[in-house]
Amino acid sequence: MTKDNPGFIQNLNPRDRETKILECDCGWKGTFAEGFETWDDDGESTVCPRCLSTVAQIWFPTIQEMLDSGDPSEVRHAELRDSAH
Ligand SMILES: [Zn+2]
Repeated sequence: MTKDNPGFIQNLNPRDRETKILECDCGWKGTFAEGFETWDDDGESTVCPRCLSTVAQIWFPTIQEMLDSGDPSEVRHAELRDSAH
């Protein structure tokens, strides 16, 4: 998964994962949490349980975004992730 993905996949705010209703082209509606969730290094996607198309994704913050957040626990996470490479 890359950030150059086609624009038709909705980027979702993590706060909306259990509240925002997503709609698939096949007619399925549900929240991010109600789809089939998949993970990779860059973020999470949810897949329509009816037709298996990806309907939305949530990107993990980048290390730079975590460092810039000013939140000490986020900064610590960023340093841990950075040193894992
Ligand atoms: Zn569908």
